[in-house]
Amino acid sequence: MAELFNFEMSAQDGKARTGVIHTPRGDIRTPAFMPVGTAATVKAMMPESVRATGADILLGNTYHLMLRPTAERIDRLGGLHKFMNWDRPILTDSGGFQVMSLAGLRKLTEQGVTFKSHIDGSKHELTPERSMEIQRLLGSDIVMCFDECPALPADRDRIAESMRLSMRWAERSRDAFGDRPGHALFGIQQGGLEKDFREESAAALTKVGFDGYAVGGLAVGEGQEAMFSCLDYAPDMLPMDKPRYLMGVGKPDDIVGAVARGIDMMDCVLPSRSGRTGQAFTRHGVVNIKNARHQDDPRPLDEGCSCPACRQYSRAYLHHVFRSNEMISGMLLTWHNLHYFQDIMAGMRESIAAGTFAAWQADFHETRARGDIEPL
Ligand SMILES: [Zn+2]
Repeated sequence: MAELFNFEMSAQDGKARTGVIHTPRGDIRTPAFMPVGTAATVKAMMPESVRATGADILLGNTYHLMLRPTAERIDRLGGLHKFMNWDRPILTDSGGFQVMSLAGLRKLTEQGVTFKSHIDGSKHELTPERSMEIQRLLGSDIVMCFDECPALPADRDRIAESMRLSMRWAERSRDAFGDRPGHALFGIQQGGLEKDFREESAAALTKVGFDGYAVGGLAVGEGQEAMFSCLDYAPDMLPMDKPRYLMGVGKPDDIVGAVARGIDMMDCVLPSRSGRTGQAFTRHGVVNIKNARHQDDPRPLDEGCSCPACRQYSRAYLHHVFRSNEMISGMLLTWHNLHYFQDIMAGMRESIAAGTFAAWQADFHETRARGDIEPL
């Protein structure tokens, strides 16, 4: 019998890989970009619209959902898929990263972390065991180990101490997760920008054994150049035959560079968050729709894009609804941005399969460098 959750790599071009992650809730084509549905919604989007952009999987945030409406309530209501009307795979983070970035009055011990809710100040505890319980109550298909990571730059001692704590928590996460056919548990490699710590972390994780591996602790302020130098070696330390996930990345050129270095999955709030602030990502780079140059422009945002915002609306209209604070502004720009990110992923998957990824990358960078179309 085929395993209920497995990764099938179909082609490799350089270090870049393409394939499919099979899950009981449907296939995830890789490289995959996961839109972020923080509070059980990808902001400004209906789930069917998210699917129409080409997304195979969404990310949900444990920290937000445990505080409101709570994992227990979502469980009573039939689980997160039913609650938010998304029947395809969902990956949930462990809550660790967001506790560190959002919660007040944190206290970190060997056991876990206690903190105050940023919503109402109530006190909570997250441990590896509690994080596994919450992600099980949510019904997550891909569960992440509970971990901890310092913001960069940080000194080597702090990075080592944090990485080793996360590795002890990874073992506890594995024990607490148990045996759940059809559900996957991913380990998270830490170690900052220190190669020897990345090596130590990868060895500790592969010894425990996980269904997939994330490269954690990047995109936390180190910059693209430092991130890419780390990705030049970090993914190679993880098992070839399992999916590799780069957490919280990124901009279109970050994503392309990560895939070129052997990453299979990514997530980021950027396309949806930017959509709500009037920023559109296009093949020609970033377009600020609030700019006055668009107010009389009847042309689409990107004539090569097949999303509804580009097919059915002008730059002048998108500019007008943004300036008027109309809700459709965030809806259309989010749709476009998510569609564009999925277009990039599809382009990479096809070119890796065809063995033409280098040419695809050259074209991607060239088109971006040309910049936006000339104003009328
Ligand atoms: Zn578009």
